[in-house]
Amino acid sequence: MRLEPAVEVAGLVKRYGEKTAVDGLDLTIARGTVTAVLGPNGAGKTTTIEICEGYRRADAGTVRVLGLDPVADGAALRPRIGVMLQAGGVYPGARAVEMLRHTAKLYADPLDVDALVERLGLGSCGRTAYRRLSGGQQQRLALAMAVVGRPELVFLDEPTAGLDPQARRATWELVRELRADGVTVVVTTHHMDEAEELADEVAIVDHGRVVATGTPEELCRAEAGVRFGAPGGLDLAGLRAVLPAGAVAVEHAPGAYRVDAPVDPKLLAAVTAWCAEAGVMPEGLAVGRRSLEDVFLELTGRELRS
Ligand code: ATP
Repeated sequence: MRLEPAVEVAGLVKRYGEKTAVDGLDLTIARGTVTAVLGPNGAGKTTTIEICEGYRRADAGTVRVLGLDPVADGAALRPRIGVMLQAGGVYPGARAVEMLRHTAKLYADPLDVDALVERLGLGSCGRTAYRRLSGGQQQRLALAMAVVGRPELVFLDEPTAGLDPQARRATWELVRELRADGVTVVVTTHHMDEAEELADEVAIVDHGRVVATGTPEELCRAEAGVRFGAPGGLDLAGLRAVLPAGAVAVEHAPGAYRVDAPVDPKLLAAVTAWCAEAGVMPEGLAVGRRSLEDVFLELTGRELRS
């Protein structure tokens, strides 16, 4: 029997007064995968995730999580999913590891708490109140709380924001192990390297919609070509004339040029020959695969979000 996807969101809409935070968002997440949800500040990621977790209600659209409705079937779903909220979601006076032990007892087959505490470097935090932990320790405790119940599906909202490199790597390692155990992981992040490192699938969200999906490789390979910086406003007609059929040359942002075409030595030679002819130094000339950050900026623009 084919299992339904871990998460299926169709036509999701969420408004806060006049503001439409999620605007017809579609997203399908296959079981057993790690999916990174990327997007600029305010794109609607947390709102979408919190609707999937059953913390917020949708205004329109359908949401199925492990085949269930997150609100109507919340009681059945809660023991099967793990949630790490952006803002901790932990009672501030609670003692760190005690609380983790208490949480573990709520589940039928929890992870070994001592091993988890060790893994996430929380050994020294035993009886410390949550509010007295450092930001990074709070993050790690929230992560531990999300996974201790051995969930089928875990939502991690910016799990490594503010973590030091060691803790970031420990978090990545844990995510890889969850995946190896068949757990589905949905992670929001602003760290493109994290998405490239961890994700089987990436969904880029902007203005409340998914604007691109694919594996990191697919997203970065698409429109591979030649990129360079030069003074803005160059006349590209001469360049276009020497490119192979189907190739496109554009100034995609002021002073940032891109030639979209399959990369081969002749293409590179044509571009550099044209630059030499035009007296243009192609700054930062790059060939082939783009970084996920390039793709992200191209899709979502360079404007700061309010
Ligand atoms: P970030 O990367 O900054 O965490 P995000 O993609 O998670 O952003 P959301 O937190 O989902 O974005 O917010 C989407 C939009 O909805 C934003 O404009 C935000 O200000 C607005 N918003 C979110 N929660 C509320 C709320 N409770 N009341 C009013 N507006 C809200």
